[in-house]
Amino acid sequence: MSRTRIVKGNITKITGGNYRVYSKDNIVNSGSKVIQKGKSDGVSYGTPGSPPPSPVIAKCLVFFRPTNAWEGEFGFDWVRVNDSHLAVDNRYNGIIGSYGSVYASESGAVFTPSPADYRSILNQYNNFGTYKGQYYVPNMTILSGDTAILDAVVHIEEKADSMQYIYNTDVFELTILKQFTVAVGINHDDSCIRIKCKKIFNSAESIRVMATKNGQTSKVGEIRVLPNNNVKNIDILMIPVSVEKMNATGAVKGNEKVLTRNAMKQSYLNANISEKTSPTVVGGFFFNLFFTTTDPSGNVVMDLSRWRSIHSALESAFFDNPANSIYRNHYRVYMMPNSLSLNGVAEGIGNTKVVAAFGNRNDSSTAHELMHAMGLYHTFDNDSQFTFEYRKTDNIMDYTHQIRKKRFSTNKFQWKILNRSVS
Ligand SMILES: [Zn+2]
Repeated sequence: MSRTRIVKGNITKITGGNYRVYSKDNIVNSGSKVIQKGKSDGVSYGTPGSPPPSPVIAKCLVFFRPTNAWEGEFGFDWVRVNDSHLAVDNRYNGIIGSYGSVYASESGAVFTPSPADYRSILNQYNNFGTYKGQYYVPNMTILSGDTAILDAVVHIEEKADSMQYIYNTDVFELTILKQFTVAVGINHDDSCIRIKCKKIFNSAESIRVMATKNGQTSKVGEIRVLPNNNVKNIDILMIPVSVEKMNATGAVKGNEKVLTRNAMKQSYLNANISEKTSPTVVGGFFFNLFFTTTDPSGNVVMDLSRWRSIHSALESAFFDNPANSIYRNHYRVYMMPNSLSLNGVAEGIGNTKVVAAFGNRNDSSTAHELMHAMGLYHTFDNDSQFTFEYRKTDNIMDYTHQIRKKRFSTNKFQWKILNRSVS
């Protein structure tokens, strides 16, 4: 924390006893002249004394975590230390680094953790000093009108006389669902607080827990909520595609619209998802030659070997109908029948609005592919701003679904790529 005081005139401090200044770093003066006068003994230099000890504060800390029911309905990004009840919650220290020349999802890929990259991701979080070292403050995003329920992991070494939430009551409504457990040790208070965001706000807000002990109050827990005043609207069109040779048409998956909407909300994107009722029909000699094949059982499926050109084939079939020109600014999700094994594929990383989603995708695939189109790399890609070990996160841009775990979260560094107004 730093403090700057600007005074146009002079500052005079008068003390009856000694006047001491302590600094962990340099003490710097600048002015037209530095004048020091010792009235009776002159000016002396030597080894400085030690600063007095800090006042006694309660030895307790409160760490907020999403509940195990969280599926990304609000954004929550923290330095993971494997203390939540989420299905996938690996400690960041050790899973941030880089891969060698073999791509992370290929066999033989070698991951090397990087302590420097781990330290670098810590800069994504505000922090403050505690009796147990630095506390890294989670970043949260929540839209006006939305509600979040959180767990707390409460560390008690010395019980405080009291603990209380401090927050802006104009912006938030907090409901304490469960008081903190104050037994000495580490306590997991599940679903202990409900946070409702009451309005649009334009600068970051803090929800803090303050503990008081022997008349001294100190901060023991915090959440930083990023301003939600720049919600961007995006239009997404789901387009069923009928492949003649397969006699099959793609369709919306059970929960994919909800998951996609949630995933976008984390970056303060309001996804307006609509669906074309009449399918776009593809077929003919050219399409069949390039884009269909048979699986081992003899069923006709989409061929993956030429997926790099499938987007332009779908786009030209869709925009052959002049009435569809109204969808030029929509993100276009072409819902295809089954492929051999691929879930979906975006036309590129950033600078495209076109995504192909195959029948064998899962509910989170469409958000994943859309986020590729909007500029995100896989979290395990060396080109990602931070590279995480493969299948070690519940991030939408990971492949954790392949080990039957849900993926639904995003991190602050991704929020800023998806929506530049997130700060
Ligand atoms: Zn991908």
